[in-house]
Amino acid sequence: MKSIILRPGKEQSLKRAHPWVFSGAIGSMPEAPEEGECVAVYSHDNNCLGIGHYQSDSIAVRMIHFSYSEPSHGFWKAKFEKALDLRVFSGLSGQGQTNVFRLVHAEGDGFPGLIVDYYDGSVVVQAHSVGMCRITDQLAGVLQDLLGDKLVSLYDKSSPALKARAGRKQVNGMLIGDKKEAVVNENGNQFVVNWIDGQKTGFFIDQRENRKLLEHYSSGKKILNMFAYTGGFSVYAMRGGASQVHTVDSSKRAIELAGDNIALNFPGDTRNKLFCSEAFDYFRDSNDKFDIIILDPPAFAKSRKSQNNAIQAYKRLNARAVEYIEPGGLLFTFSCSQVVGREQFRQAVYSAALQSGREVKILHQLSQPADHPVSIYHPEGEYLKGFVLQVL
Ligand code: SAH
Repeated sequence: MKSIILRPGKEQSLKRAHPWVFSGAIGSMPEAPEEGECVAVYSHDNNCLGIGHYQSDSIAVRMIHFSYSEPSHGFWKAKFEKALDLRVFSGLSGQGQTNVFRLVHAEGDGFPGLIVDYYDGSVVVQAHSVGMCRITDQLAGVLQDLLGDKLVSLYDKSSPALKARAGRKQVNGMLIGDKKEAVVNENGNQFVVNWIDGQKTGFFIDQRENRKLLEHYSSGKKILNMFAYTGGFSVYAMRGGASQVHTVDSSKRAIELAGDNIALNFPGDTRNKLFCSEAFDYFRDSNDKFDIIILDPPAFAKSRKSQNNAIQAYKRLNARAVEYIEPGGLLFTFSCSQVVGREQFRQAVYSAALQSGREVKILHQLSQPADHPVSIYHPEGEYLKGFVLQVL
């Protein structure tokens, strides 16, 4: 394995189990590694700090282990077993009421650059680093070994740009089986998931517990599900006994999907209305007010550069939504932007509340569930932030 030697003092963050080596920390590379190659990382005084995937970016090495090890089949299998054990431990066995979960959540599971989602036996793998992209075939073999007969299909949904850098064929590909879509259960609700055409890996698994919380408050309520995608929050609202639901998304495909999922769970039920509309356009044209509004927008900031614009966008959106909440009603508001921290998001929501001049209380502070764990040594892994506010 090729080696990378760090500059003096730059071993400290690895000693604290933070899994990223920034390019500026590198002192020398005796033999230049290829894009995505597995390298051993050494301190300036020749202590091996572990192994990781090299990439010629500002995050130059993503650590996969904090001591020397060969990344063999057995190495990866032990890591996947540990990730699966955590899911089972947290009550996600893949059977019964909930058969969809995230099996691997990148750094949170010791797999920097890798997401693996499980949809009732169909697995979707998404590499976010060149190193993981180079080994998706190897990982597919390990998952097959781990899951045995339970594995129905395995689809690689890493981006073409990443595949090109990893020197692999530039298409997403079915690596095992040929299943493209499944009807999955989440807390007893059914959802059609298509991992080929769908956004991300097909379904936003991370909102499972927050949807359940919405169900709890929904009885007799008029509810607006803004940024609905597959209609997850709408289905739970209806399950909880909502009197009316407005399901809004700017994507025609998303609205069709939401409509299909609502019909699948509540055939013939007329409580839901679908709106294919941009969020601010919907508010502009709406004469309705709501007991509960859900705001679950896409990540407004993908990089630090757009952080300020994102915070302003959260302010505007939340301020607008608050105007449409009946006295005593609830706002479920979320941010999934990794570069906007919980405190910054809270400040944005605070500004929106202040602008309304109304009394606003935080009832719940929400995050991502146990199948999206955050390593305490890698706080960047906490991306989903949410508040349930009561607006009086
Ligand atoms: N709440 C969903 C996930 C939302 S993902 C769930 O529980 O699964 C974000 C969604 O916002 C996407 O479906 C996207 O099509 C939609 N979207 C993006 N920009 C929008 C806008 N300006 N107005 C309305 N919808 C938008």
